Amino acid sequence: MAATDIARQVGEGCRTVPLAGHVGFDSLPDQLVNKSVSQGFCFNILCVGETGLGKSTLMDTLFNTKFEGEPATHTQPGVQLRSNTYDLQESNVGLKLTIVSTVGFGDQINKEDSYKPIVEFIDAQFEAYLQEELKIRRVLHTYHDSRIHACLYFIAPTGHSLKSLDLVTMKKLDSKVNIIPIIAKSDAISKSELTKFKIKITSELVSNGVQIYQFPTDDESVAEINGTMNAHLPFAVIGSTEELKIGNKMMKARQYPWGTVQVENEAHCDFVKLREMLIRVNMEDLREQTHSRHYELYRRCKLEEMGFKDTDPDSKPFSLQETYEAKRNEFLGELQKKEEEMRQMFVQRVKEKEAELKEAEKELHEKFDRLKKLHQDEKKKLEDKKKSLDDEVNAFKQRKTAAELLQSQGSQAGGSQTLKRDKEKKNNPWLCTE
Ligand code: GDP
Repeated sequence: MAATDIARQVGEGCRTVPLAGHVGFDSLPDQLVNKSVSQGFCFNILCVGETGLGKSTLMDTLFNTKFEGEPATHTQPGVQLRSNTYDLQESNVGLKLTIVSTVGFGDQINKEDSYKPIVEFIDAQFEAYLQEELKIRRVLHTYHDSRIHACLYFIAPTGHSLKSLDLVTMKKLDSKVNIIPIIAKSDAISKSELTKFKIKITSELVSNGVQIYQFPTDDESVAEINGTMNAHLPFAVIGSTEELKIGNKMMKARQYPWGTVQVENEAHCDFVKLREMLIRVNMEDLREQTHSRHYELYRRCKLEEMGFKDTDPDSKPFSLQETYEAKRNEFLGELQKKEEEMRQMFVQRVKEKEAELKEAEKELHEKFDRLKKLHQDEKKKLEDKKKSLDDEVNAFKQRKTAAELLQSQGSQAGGSQTLKRDKEKKNNPWLCTE
């Protein structure tokens, strides 16, 4: 490397010195490549689309293999996500590929909440990564990054317009994931209809403010191809793992009674364009966008929610330590406030209870006094009654004595008269005595 090439001004306050000979740090890119290759790569694809739109078939076609998986039924009560991870190897490069697919999407009568499980899944992967980042002992280089790098959104080949389910779902996902819309089973739509359908989809996405992933055009080496490919979105794809002999070559195709569609024929569909863009040209950009844009947004919102800030209210930089202290003080202040509130509430409750008890005691006293008075009145009444009864008894006794006296006097007089009557009766039995 020429010394003049190196002798560039890197930044103010940084002195540039020419090198007298080869040092070796120009091998840094190679070191990075070697390190990355030895570590391997990971790539996570999310396939969103109605059951039967060809999601599994397309994945098999894209990676030229047969991934396991049972076909989903249309009877799912809700939307679920099925995730499978595979270790793939191409040349000496290892790829940990995770394919997440929606199950039951679009199968329910009420599709209002169909997007929720997908959003929750994407957020859960961000959260897992954030938790790993926040750990004291973090091992990010061996951590299995499950964040979704690309979302292939399968649009049904209706030829009309996007379904409201598609628009709502894409709108909810566009700030969380790189969306690449694709028209599935595009062999079901004619060429002229397809052109109109693509224009219609693009205009609907724009008018509804749905941000789809744009292949980057800032890197000169891929700017041209990416620019051209952006104009082809959404890609119209066909999937098939069936190989047919066309000419003297074996090709992936779908055979119909009227002819054959070749998956890798660009005149038949955009499958090759999708494969080029997704895997061969922009896989790294998709990974980077996921980290620097979507994860960053999630992380920022989450940390702000937790009370972390970069600046204080006067827009001065605020360190993590300061944020922690401020948050801790705020928490302690709140705790004290809560304690004080609880203490006051307790005192208030005790006072209320005391007053209640006093009132009850007073009532009891009053009741006791009332009963006491009642008792005394009753006692007095009974005593009066007893006294009057005693008087009556005495009077009765006196009358009785007087009556007995009178009776004894009377019986003496009456006795002689009875004798006389008995004698007369003896002499004359027919004599009536009365
Ligand atoms: P998934 O439920 O979305 O995973 O759909 P599958 O991949 O299981 O495909 C459902 C059916 O559609 C299968 O019979 C496939 O052979 C068929 N299929 C898949 N891709 C295409 C395609 O591009 N065109 C047509 N016509 N049929 C396809």
